[in-house]
Amino acid sequence: MENAKLGTKAVWAGEKDYLVHGATQVPVVLSVAYGYDDLEQWYEVATGKRDGHIYGRNTNPTVQSFEDKVKILEGAEAATSFSTGMAAISNTFATFLVPGDRIVSIKDTYGGTNKIFTEFLPRQQIEVILCETGNHEQMEAEVLKGCKILYLETPTNPTVKITDIERMAKAGKAVGALVIVDNTFATPINQTPLSLGVDLVIHSATKFLGGHADALGGIVCGKKELVEQIFDYREINGATMDPMAAYLMLRGMKTLHLRVCQQSKNAIALANYLKTEDLVEGVYYPGLEEHPNHHIAKKQMKGYGGMLSFSVKGGMNMVKELLPRLQFANRAANLGAVETTVGPARTTSHIECTPEERAAMGIPEGLIRVSCGIEEIDDLIADFKQAFAYVNRG
Ligand SMILES: *Cc1c(COP(=O)(O)O)cnc(C)c1O
Repeated sequence: MENAKLGTKAVWAGEKDYLVHGATQVPVVLSVAYGYDDLEQWYEVATGKRDGHIYGRNTNPTVQSFEDKVKILEGAEAATSFSTGMAAISNTFATFLVPGDRIVSIKDTYGGTNKIFTEFLPRQQIEVILCETGNHEQMEAEVLKGCKILYLETPTNPTVKITDIERMAKAGKAVGALVIVDNTFATPINQTPLSLGVDLVIHSATKFLGGHADALGGIVCGKKELVEQIFDYREINGATMDPMAAYLMLRGMKTLHLRVCQQSKNAIALANYLKTEDLVEGVYYPGLEEHPNHHIAKKQMKGYGGMLSFSVKGGMNMVKELLPRLQFANRAANLGAVETTVGPARTTSHIECTPEERAAMGIPEGLIRVSCGIEEIDDLIADFKQAFAYVNRG
């Protein structure tokens, strides 16, 4: 398994130890508790001296199989999962941060994460410094002043800005900070932050890992000693992944490599096509040479991912006319699914912000986020073409 390529690992990794009765697929174990006739054995499992399961809030075989698969794809020592991506993020912060700590991050994190930074952490006397996304000098200067955590997300939502992971991991290391990357947009198929020097990788498994918009989940991977601390917090806090969700994740992940490769191919083709439409003001995609940090994306990513955004002339009024015309796109808040999904930034990633705040963040009111699905690209382009033709009809 170790020498196999990513696409092969996505299919096979993490499953073998959990198969029973000759089944070729991992079973969904719904049992809440695990019984022991031998009380001594029960005690040994409960105290961690022997492998096994005690109670579903702590561990579950189906959930562990999912954790093992992601762990192997990310090249991590350990992984622990959660009920949602936000649970993964907030439990990780709760594990390591205490009043008086300082955390450095970027302005463009996921909306929920941003809310933790601007409201919840300050309430607990934790100082949060949010730097301009992509301004590495500013980030380095803030990190050098000392911090407990350096938290990154790259590419970001919705304008797909890029941060140099290796460079920032070095800066974090220099001051003994924990360096954490939300790898949801890239997936381990396109980017493995642990190999670039970071300590922990987080995913909203709800998105690309699951891939079918039918299960919620989150996961944190990295050094065993760190992941164990997060697990200790999570098993008490109770934000445990459901076994049925874990099964859907496992099933979805078998095609992760196929899906993400197709989505990345679709995204670059769609981005190039969108540039040719008169109504389009700007196209944001790290795979485009004109993207301000394309050179960094090229260095740290294998593919540029399925997420792109573009802005249209005429602002929100135009967005309202254009999006309902699309046949092969869900107008919805999720991303990373097999179906293409579109939505205005002001309704999806940045709904918490005022128009002024969005403008300050460089998010035009006419910005549309696109999560490319696995459809055939000719159909996607034809679909956008007919929608533009409709709004251009005069
Ligand atoms: C969706 C998302 C999250 C939150 O995940 P949930 O599973 O919805 O809780 C975190 N980070 C990024 C980048 C996301 O896209």
